[in-house]
Amino acid sequence: MAYRALDNDTVIDYLLNQSSISDLFKTDQNLTAREIGDGNLNQVFVVDDGLGNSVIVKQALPYLRVAGDSWPLTLERIHFETKALKLQNELAPGLVPQVYDYDEEMALVVMENLNRHELMRKPLVKRIRFPLFADHISTYLARTLFFTSDLYLSGPQKKSLQAQFINPDLCKIQEDFVFTHPFMDSPENQWNPLLDDEIAKVRSNGDLKISIAAMKAKYMTEGQAIIHSDLHTGSIMLNEFDTRVIDPEFGFCGPMGFDIGALIENIILNYLSHFSHTPQEYERLSYQEYLLDLVRKIWNLFAEKFEKLWLENPKGDLMTKGYWDYPGGSEDFARYQKWYINNLLRDTAGFGGCKMLRRMMGIVSVWDITIIKDTAKRAVCEKMAIRIGTRWILERDRFNCIEDLISIVREESGA
Ligand code: ADP
Ligand code: MG
Repeated sequence: MAYRALDNDTVIDYLLNQSSISDLFKTDQNLTAREIGDGNLNQVFVVDDGLGNSVIVKQALPYLRVAGDSWPLTLERIHFETKALKLQNELAPGLVPQVYDYDEEMALVVMENLNRHELMRKPLVKRIRFPLFADHISTYLARTLFFTSDLYLSGPQKKSLQAQFINPDLCKIQEDFVFTHPFMDSPENQWNPLLDDEIAKVRSNGDLKISIAAMKAKYMTEGQAIIHSDLHTGSIMLNEFDTRVIDPEFGFCGPMGFDIGALIENIILNYLSHFSHTPQEYERLSYQEYLLDLVRKIWNLFAEKFEKLWLENPKGDLMTKGYWDYPGGSEDFARYQKWYINNLLRDTAGFGGCKMLRRMMGIVSVWDITIIKDTAKRAVCEKMAIRIGTRWILERDRFNCIEDLISIVREESGA
């Protein structure tokens, strides 16, 4: 079937013609469809039979949704999303939505409807706590990153996987809008006018600009593992018991720290947003402490699980077991592991810092901050974010544990 953009009516006809999908519903008679996409790129429909069965249909449009048809974008992004979802379902079962069907020509994927979950960004503003989240997300990160890296795969296996995830168009979006345009004159940049001075300083801070260029070079060239590459708190749906990562259309073979950095940077932006959302000091401090502890747990559990997977599965061509087979070799292997994981922490800080800055002065901020309508109050959080992001980037080479990142958050936010 040739590509056509679906709407609330045609999406139902489409599904009824797919025998593998129509079987998922108890009845064909009363299907209803609703477009719920609040994302920037695609359209997302929920189709429901009114008897407790529903699916999500996510279809790519031939342009960037936020920008309209003046900004063409290839449809193949849904191919990468589907491929990544299938891979993540194998590597981290239960932590991503199930895929029911994929239609290349229609540029759509049919997947599990997470109707008992909500986007993480929203409850974090309401100061909701998720006791199992750090355990779930650290498992997702450790397993998806380890099993797609050279620590687990042979050289040829890794190259073959990498070749399946050459995703140039969506990589280009991140290369431009995370690492480049926010830090120079570019028409789509937006910022709070009360930040003019801070932004001018960022844009002319030579040491910072060199470090951001170094992080961009890593993003463009360091193919460590198949990463999600857009792992913010709007790409996570969860409830008290269950966590799912959605929307991996940016997936490609890139640096692991980009995923961990995106996640903890979003948690810190939420932390800062509470200076405005939660004026009652006791409630604010108590939730902010919870968020810092969440960051600490996410990193520490990730590092622990990643190291364990590595010890249990030392199969990859980097470095094979025999390489360490000499007196003192196992101690050197342990030192190498420590060095490798510490570099991931430093990358996490560098990428997290770049992403934090771009949210303050680039094409898109985050909802947690943009809903603060009073620009003076918003500027308070935003200035802190600029200082934290800058220091995470500039000081990353001295970091040896997650407390090093957290103490900068405390110092710059006065907490
Ligand atoms: P985009 O790629 O356009 O950013 P997303 O994948 O982020 O699209 O989806 C947009 C919105 O649709 C999400 O914020 C979420 O509210 C909803 N959504 C996406 N996938 C699912 C799903 N599997 N189950 C329930 N809701 C979903
Ligand atoms: Mg998306």
